[in-house]
Amino acid sequence: MISRLEQLCLEKGLKMTEQRRVIARVLSESADHPDVERVYRRATAVDPRISIATVYRTVRLFEEASILAKHDFGDGRSRYEEMPSDHHDHLIDLQSGRVVEFRNEEIERLQRLVAEELGYELVGHRLELYAVPRRTGSETE
Ligand SMILES: [Zn+2]
Repeated sequence: MISRLEQLCLEKGLKMTEQRRVIARVLSESADHPDVERVYRRATAVDPRISIATVYRTVRLFEEASILAKHDFGDGRSRYEEMPSDHHDHLIDLQSGRVVEFRNEEIERLQRLVAEELGYELVGHRLELYAVPRRTGSETE
């Protein structure tokens, strides 16, 4: 079985070495928006010969080919995900580091409206919400 990312690589005409294929598969199977370190750990679990330099190079290559989306979630480390086919935004849980994907039509509409009122047509946006879990009423300090 070939991963979606591998398929995109082939469509873009990227030369796929065995190591690139492993890295592509790791990224395709990662739903947690991993940074390069994490991709490296997962890739070396499959093939210990893969170096961190190869992971950096490959991730950059995929990013330049627009098959990988890069994010900055405020911790100074770039995070990656397979280029989504449908738009979504992210909420970052500051306690656990978990990244939650969401889409809200009201927000989408308001952003288009804001751009419109400023005399523009919206062609894209990035939205990140930084949040902590709400304490439930039953909890005491
Ligand atoms: Zn995402």
